[in-house]
Amino acid sequence: MIKVGVLGATGMVGQNYLRLLANHPWFDVVYLAASPASAGKKYKDAVAGRWHMREDIPEKYRDIVVEDAGQVEKALGRCQLIFSAVELDKKAILALEAEYAARGFAVVSNNSAHRSTEDVPVIIPEINHQHIEIIPQQQKQRGWNKGFLVVKPNCSIQSYMLPLFALIKAGYRVDKMIVTTLQAVSGAGYPGPASIDLIDNIVPYIGGEEEKSEIEPLKVLGRVEGGRIIPDDSIKISAHCNRVPVVDGHTACCSLSFAGKKPELAEIIDIWRSFTSVPQELKLPSAPIPPIIYREEENRPQPQKDRNAGNGMAVTVGRLRKCNVFDIRFTGLHHNTVRGAAGGSILAAELLVARGFIK
Ligand code: NAP
Repeated sequence: MIKVGVLGATGMVGQNYLRLLANHPWFDVVYLAASPASAGKKYKDAVAGRWHMREDIPEKYRDIVVEDAGQVEKALGRCQLIFSAVELDKKAILALEAEYAARGFAVVSNNSAHRSTEDVPVIIPEINHQHIEIIPQQQKQRGWNKGFLVVKPNCSIQSYMLPLFALIKAGYRVDKMIVTTLQAVSGAGYPGPASIDLIDNIVPYIGGEEEKSEIEPLKVLGRVEGGRIIPDDSIKISAHCNRVPVVDGHTACCSLSFAGKKPELAEIIDIWRSFTSVPQELKLPSAPIPPIIYREEENRPQPQKDRNAGNGMAVTVGRLRKCNVFDIRFTGLHHNTVRGAAGGSILAAELLVARGFIK
């Protein structure tokens, strides 16, 4: 078993890590870290009154004493892989994650801080699995002999990136896309927006989210060259991001246009339904089969009904139809704290194990 640490283990994403990893066949979580306020407490006491998962705290974590994530030396010798889900300012996260990598840990992060760092891959394993090949160059450039840093993208983009990539992989060039996201409250962590701001309401602004939703896809679709990742600038994305009164499950309503040949609607559904990629071929433990589910019902996908598809790792798509302005439109949905956060990072870490970067 690979020994694992979780930074931000007491938070919304951290709790999802513990839930998803409780019976993982490869990963054994032995090190839990959070803020100085939680440090020194048993995990069950640190999360008393704020454990948000439906299942009880897994027995194996209850009595682990939480460490201060800032004291990197406490993790030495205890684990080799670190999942990072701390909530800190960007500068502090940049420094903290680099420090863990410099001390020899494989770091897989949920945070946005390193997503624009040129030699740090932003991984959606079904799409840009090959970007992890930059790791030896990253280590050389930074003088890290064993550790490295990989991140996952913002939780807003998974609902449209898998359907979009499946079309690109099938040979269709997409040049423009307008996406309106309807994002769940859990995406803001706990306690998130005040209930009085959200019940009976929609908030048409999530700080920084539209920029991430437009820029990160280009890096995910980019190429590795000269020790950095060059974004694909052939697609223009315009995003409207909204916070809606849903607990879990981000929805994205998308319109897109093709440059050159355009697929028929029936062919698009076939492309989505038959889409498979490296995580499925490698039979990674968290890889959903199939990764994209297309629903024929005119009123799907819905967060309540579809967010847990494929154990929260599948993207559910529906409502494919012609667009009066662009070429096609559809609605996508994924579980934001599973595929969009902890589960997506776990799948990336499984890929790193399967490719020999974590031994
Ligand atoms: P959260 O529920 O607010 O949890 C924050 C975590 O960070 C807690 O464990 C907290 O520990 C810890 N922390 C706070 N200050 C710290 C400090 N000074 N030193 C060390 N640890 C500290 O947030 P979250 O929703 O889990 O999000 C965590 C990260 O994942 C954020 O960067 C967020 O942007 C990103 N993310 C979240 C989602 C999502 O769907 N929620 C999706 C993708 C990415 P204490 O409990 O001790 O305060």
